[in-house]
Amino acid sequence: MTETATLSRSQTKTEHFDVLIVGAGISGVGGAYHLSQQCPGKTFVVLDSLESHGGTWLTHKYPGIRSDSDLYTFGYRFKPWIGPPIASAEEILSYMGEVIEENGLAPHIRYKHKITSARWSGKDNLWTIEARLTDTGESRFFTANFLWMCQGYYRHEKGYTPDWDGIENYKGTLVHPQTWPEDLDYKGKNVLVIGSGATAATVVPAIAGDCNHVTVLQRSPTYFAPGVNRNELADILREIDIDETIIHDIVRKKILHDQEAFTQRSMKEPEVVKAELLAGVRAYLGPDYDVDTHFTPRYRPWRQRLAFVPDGDIFKGIVAGKATMVTDEIDHFTEKGIITKGGKTLEADIIVTATGFNLNVLGDIEFTIDEKPLDFADTVTYRGMMFTGVPNMVWVFGYFRASWTLRADMIADFVCRTLNHMQAKGAKRVEVALRPEDHNMPLLPWLDTENFNPGYMLRGMHLLPKRGDKREWQHTQDYWREREEIPAIDLDGAEFKYS
Ligand SMILES: Cc1cc2nc3c(=O)[nH]c(=O)nc-3n(C[C@H](O)[C@H](O)[C@H](O)COP(=O)(O)OP(=O)(O)OC[C@H]3O[C@@H](n4cnc5c(N)ncnc54)[C@H](O)[C@@H]3O)c2cc1C
Repeated sequence: MTETATLSRSQTKTEHFDVLIVGAGISGVGGAYHLSQQCPGKTFVVLDSLESHGGTWLTHKYPGIRSDSDLYTFGYRFKPWIGPPIASAEEILSYMGEVIEENGLAPHIRYKHKITSARWSGKDNLWTIEARLTDTGESRFFTANFLWMCQGYYRHEKGYTPDWDGIENYKGTLVHPQTWPEDLDYKGKNVLVIGSGATAATVVPAIAGDCNHVTVLQRSPTYFAPGVNRNELADILREIDIDETIIHDIVRKKILHDQEAFTQRSMKEPEVVKAELLAGVRAYLGPDYDVDTHFTPRYRPWRQRLAFVPDGDIFKGIVAGKATMVTDEIDHFTEKGIITKGGKTLEADIIVTATGFNLNVLGDIEFTIDEKPLDFADTVTYRGMMFTGVPNMVWVFGYFRASWTLRADMIADFVCRTLNHMQAKGAKRVEVALRPEDHNMPLLPWLDTENFNPGYMLRGMHLLPKRGDKREWQHTQDYWREREEIPAIDLDGAEFKYS
């Protein structure tokens, strides 16, 4: 701790809570709800560095920002979603706001609290957390028995922009979607969007109508699934006056059933699924469009998140001549734009770098365990939730192929069950440890990149915990197995150590 922090600590009182939740995004607010329902006696606080709830949906303000998952499954299992399946950030924020209000969670949440350090003391079985107030710079101190990490997976302050050759020469406006200036005037301008993931697919149709022209420069294509932004089953059930709680439950089950079938098919017959996805794109772009070059990915379907395109809006922009795809690589920047490796000159008034995130491991918080700095990469993960050598802490890392929140809800049940189990046992501390049969287990990188390989994970893999070759020691990204396995975890299993 710095001298200033020590000084301010002696001047401010330290508040104690049974549980401290880091982050008021969809995971943290969900965690607070489940805790209040399943562990009603526990005291808790949620700290977030932003000025309000929402996390991802508050940070991102680029035009057209919306979910790419349906909200029946991205929404919580306990609060019905009643709008169209794909939702805007604003709709998600207001849904989360209702959860906070309806469940009296607001008094438990403190905004503008940026957590800078978390120190575990084995002597006291306590975490001491220091947070800096983002408006005044003052420090606040908290102790907590249990830390629930809902900090997401990327740094909110700044997106990832590669260090391209000559980028400093560009005289136009350079914008990352994560820090989109609210007053950015793109009307009548030529805009170049670099990147082709879900963000590009959202920004392009949202701005194309107002711009002179939008060019999308992608290194390699992404899979898109065009469709209509409505759920037929939900519409029918609503028409016959079924209760929204029941509709939510049924529609979630149906979507998850269909997604499971799709995932299975993507693994078993990737070529057939690929052909179907490409046919969906061709239906919008017509037979003469070069789908092979611009919309035929090199990876197998479902290795990265599939971007749902409501009403094929990005394709309509291309057909209307408002947007053009270029599949090539950046060689260097010039004053006016970009020269590609293929020799193309792409000039633009505004360049949008939809190039992804900076991975944020444990909220960029400085962790110590009994005064020793924690190097997360030295730990082994227990199902992507707990970590060897790190007591009384659970981390929420959701799904990428299915909706993130499915896992956040499930981990919340696990945390609450663990807290209640500890209370019943009179335990003050729980941690996971390799069992005798795990000691010769090979330790591998956090994710199997054959299975799932987005850029920010590849860039940050060396910072993340290791995984083993047994399911207990892996973060599998497999909702359909975890929904059976996580609720069935034996909390008295040999991997759990209590004291
Ligand atoms: C543009 C975009 C669209 C997406 N669309 C989907 C989608 O459709 N479906 C899907 O499943 N997933 C989607 N994702 C992934 C998405 O991030 C997650 O699904 C989900 O919103 C993550 O929620 P979270 O609460 O876990 O984390 P976040 O939303 O990242 O929230 C974490 C919160 O923790 C706070 N925090 C972090 N560190 C600290 C600290 N040190 N001190 C204090 N507070 C801290 C942050 O300020 C933030 O508010 C999308 C991601 C992006 C960026």
